[in-house]
Amino acid sequence: MSLNPFKRKKFFLNYFCTSIVSHCNLNCRYCDHFVPLAKERYFSVEELSKHFKKLSSEIEVSSIGIMGGEPLLHPNIKEILKMFRNIFPYPRTNLAIYTNGIKLNSMGEDFWECCNKNKIHIFISKFPLNIDFSQSFKNAKKYNVIVRYYGAKTGEYKTMYKMALDLSGSQNYEEMHKVCWQKGFCTYFQDGRLYKCTTVGNIQNFNTYFNKNLEVTTEDYIDIYKIKNIKKIKQYFDNPIPFCKYCNIPAQVDKLPFEISKRNINDWSY
Ligand code: SF4
Ligand code: SF4
Repeated sequence: MSLNPFKRKKFFLNYFCTSIVSHCNLNCRYCDHFVPLAKERYFSVEELSKHFKKLSSEIEVSSIGIMGGEPLLHPNIKEILKMFRNIFPYPRTNLAIYTNGIKLNSMGEDFWECCNKNKIHIFISKFPLNIDFSQSFKNAKKYNVIVRYYGAKTGEYKTMYKMALDLSGSQNYEEMHKVCWQKGFCTYFQDGRLYKCTTVGNIQNFNTYFNKNLEVTTEDYIDIYKIKNIKKIKQYFDNPIPFCKYCNIPAQVDKLPFEISKRNINDWSY
């Protein structure tokens, strides 16, 4: 095999997450994808495939988080998992579903076989819902699929953080970017756009529901159909974006207990 010197180099990302449905069967207060405010949407296999094929021609990625909303609500989940694995081969890319687990015990054998065949891991966000996951762990063992609680080895209940949006957009965007913990950890991809964080990538749910205009400009994301060279991607990830002016990072509150959202604007703003 010879190396083609004219072949364009790809940009390397450690991780990004993406949505395959926009809504959820839980609707947690403070959800950082603004899911309780989202309209129901199931992303089609065709649209996902088109965007991810293009993305894979520009970037290498080590891990992808398949999320929503709640990804297990998607009726074509198996086709979608196969599609991801075809585009992002094993072992170069780890693929994991992030689920609240409500539907996990009722997923059929074909789902577990699909996870096994395509090397899909499953992370459960364990909310205080009184779900016995023993059937899921039995299936995981039977089909040799890795299933873990997300963020807690021993399976403590998940807590939430409140993001503290500044609706007036008067924060110093460079300062906020400097202190933001999301950058590098919450890269998000949706509809052909790569975002630095899930906040800017999902803000349309908030804007539409509350009739606000926290503006997303063309500098706030990378349009993967318009990439000229990978230096631009690096610059995007290294530098603040205009949208950072809407985040009051020091005002964020962590470790809040789980509650169902009443869709109050103050749950996301301060
Ligand atoms: S389960 Fe996850 S995606 Fe669904 S509302 Fe809660 S935090 Fe958001
Ligand atoms: S917009 Fe900027 S400050 Fe806000 S979460 Fe994203 S990277 Fe952080």
